[in-house]
Amino acid sequence: MRVDLHMHTTLCRHATGTVDEYIAQGQRMGLDIMGFTDHNPMPEWYDTAARMYPEQLPTYVQWITEAQARTRTPRILLGLEADFFPGTEDAVREQIDTYDFDYIIGSVHPFGGWIDFAAPGDPEDLCRKYYSLLEKSAQSRLFDIIAHPDLVKHWAPASESVWKPLAARALDAVAESGAALEYNASGAYKDIQEVYPNPVILAMARERGIPIAFGSDAHDAQHVGRGLDNGLKVLAELGYDSVVAFDKRSRQECPIDLDEPAGVYLDSE
Ligand code: ZN
Ligand code: FE
Ligand code: FE
Ligand code: ZN
Repeated sequence: MRVDLHMHTTLCRHATGTVDEYIAQGQRMGLDIMGFTDHNPMPEWYDTAARMYPEQLPTYVQWITEAQARTRTPRILLGLEADFFPGTEDAVREQIDTYDFDYIIGSVHPFGGWIDFAAPGDPEDLCRKYYSLLEKSAQSRLFDIIAHPDLVKHWAPASESVWKPLAARALDAVAESGAALEYNASGAYKDIQEVYPNPVILAMARERGIPIAFGSDAHDAQHVGRGLDNGLKVLAELGYDSVVAFDKRSRQECPIDLDEPAGVYLDSE
């Protein structure tokens, strides 16, 4: 099955395309299931620039619910990408409980002050902070999927001897929590030119039996399903025979079938 569980809407103010344009591209990509996961509202002290405002959450839910009603294929899921940061858990839990989400992606992003971009400090220290937050995000049990698990590589290019043990601890917490880990293809199209997570971390996830969710992290309708064909191949080579989807917070296995026809990209990049 072809599943993409990570895409945005214009409500976050840094994505383009209508919900219907995303769905049309999902159809061209031959997706069976696609999930919208726009950036959740967060407390003002944390960040308001990169996400919908609190009063827009009902609008977002309405957009996706209406899209579900008028779309046969792919099946549309109502998800949310929620940031994790200590002190915001109660607010996030309240949002999650207010609506009938199919799943919640938990993300550690560079907000909340754990990175000072003016004085980023040493990469090892940043890695320690990041992976400790990632570990705590899993321990919070708020999320069904832990997103782009080595995002910190953008700001903290560190050697493997530094990040590997930190990532291993975080993955232990993910395995313990029962959450899935995201294979997020978008990194391959950024300067870093590598999906999240890197192959070492992905192999460690496999060793721990952690299920994988595929996400294009599309912020543009053209990018729905981008990287899926390669991602499924990589996962199959590692020994995964399925990726996951969700229905009202309950996890479903979606078999990987490499013989299914590849999608049609419109993107000329
Ligand atoms: Zn975004
Ligand atoms: Fe994210
Ligand atoms: Fe995202
Ligand atoms: Zn994201």
